[in-house]
Amino acid sequence: MRLSQSFFVTQRNYSDELTTVSHRLMVQAGMLFQVTGGIYIIGHFLTKVIQKITDLVRTEMNTIDAQEISMPILQPKSLWVESRRWDQYKNQGLMFTLRDRKEAEYCLSPTNEELAVDFIRNRIISYRQLPCAIYQFGEKFRDEIRPRFGLMRGREFTMKDAYSFHESPKDLEEWYAKFRNAYANVLNRLNLRFGIVEADNGEMGGTKSEEFMAIADAGEDELVFCSSCGSAVNVEKAGKKDQCTKCGSMEIRISRGIEIGHIFQLGGYYSKNMGLTFTSKDGTEEPIIMGCYGMGISRLAAAVVEQSHDENGIIWPSVIAPFDAIVIPARPSEIAVNAAIRLYEDLKDQGIDCILDDRDASAAVKFKDADLTGIPWKIIVGKTFESNGEVELKDRRSKNSTQMKPDNVARFLLENQGD
Ligand code: ATP
Ligand code: MG
Repeated sequence: MRLSQSFFVTQRNYSDELTTVSHRLMVQAGMLFQVTGGIYIIGHFLTKVIQKITDLVRTEMNTIDAQEISMPILQPKSLWVESRRWDQYKNQGLMFTLRDRKEAEYCLSPTNEELAVDFIRNRIISYRQLPCAIYQFGEKFRDEIRPRFGLMRGREFTMKDAYSFHESPKDLEEWYAKFRNAYANVLNRLNLRFGIVEADNGEMGGTKSEEFMAIADAGEDELVFCSSCGSAVNVEKAGKKDQCTKCGSMEIRISRGIEIGHIFQLGGYYSKNMGLTFTSKDGTEEPIIMGCYGMGISRLAAAVVEQSHDENGIIWPSVIAPFDAIVIPARPSEIAVNAAIRLYEDLKDQGIDCILDDRDASAAVKFKDADLTGIPWKIIVGKTFESNGEVELKDRRSKNSTQMKPDNVARFLLENQGD
């Protein structure tokens, strides 16, 4: 991508209303544009980041044999009446609802348990067809009381939601453990510091649930981490903050956390209300036991920025960085400019996703924008190139720099895409 031929708008100034780091940096870096409260246009760089997060989550879901599907956003009221959640969600004001030309009512998906049950019922009828799990990436709509902090709490946001179906609570527990492990893998791949806390089931019903909390000052929940047994508990649930509720140790640490994912053992709640049954081995008709597993994909991007930035801007882990590198001609001379173009073309040919900052701007502006947008490597074609034919590679995270001939850059980058 050549910046001279791209939509690329960064800003140094920002409004006082941008109180969280991730929100502010995404706006400053020209990645996030508010349409109205809690509703955003996500720019190209951030769209690429979110696609990479999606790919990472998809890989983990496929590994545990969950099957990807696509569910609609528009859902008929009748399904929500069956599950007895229509009035509940309406009264809370959380759900966007609308009518069609025949006056039939719908909601815009705030979550998809009803659809998932409707999909499975009367299609899976025997224990022989169980277990199975489905998932999707989809937009969710919630008329949040206080939409804020950019992607952290939007009124429209992307969620990965998954649903699993079982003949027994024991089988659910096994799959729940697989999902739990897959979630931990995703957060580890993103280098996120996180805790897993026991949670209330809220509007979902069911028996057990846990939340994955990314540690960050901007988080809305307060957590007690135990250094002794490794557990994490929500302060709301723990009640007090001086001792671990699990093991009694006083070696605790209080941190704030962002809820990234929430996994539930639902049991038979929806199945009973909505008539989702199967014929068991003994020939009896029983409710299918369910689990459900949500992960905030857009919120994850915000959580990563909360944990990974410095005074100059975002520092994307390379697994989800919007680009691998940015080539910066830092001198106006023909020799530097041409070498930068050649290097950029060469890197692209070798499969490195890079930017050429060929804008008519000063080197200082280019460096600032590269740092702000969090590209892992800056490749500077400037003075040293003019004098000894070497370019400078600067690591966004460590700020270390090394010099080398342009011919060696591709190999170096391919070997140094660690995190
Ligand atoms: P919260 O307590 O933050 O309102 P929730 O418990 O209502 O979230 P769930 O129904 O558990 O959310 O949804 C699954 C995941 O979707 C959450 O763990 C979170 O990562 C994400 N999520 C929920 N609401 C939003 C939102 N308004 N904006 C962005 N992501 C969200
Ligand atoms: Mg939740």
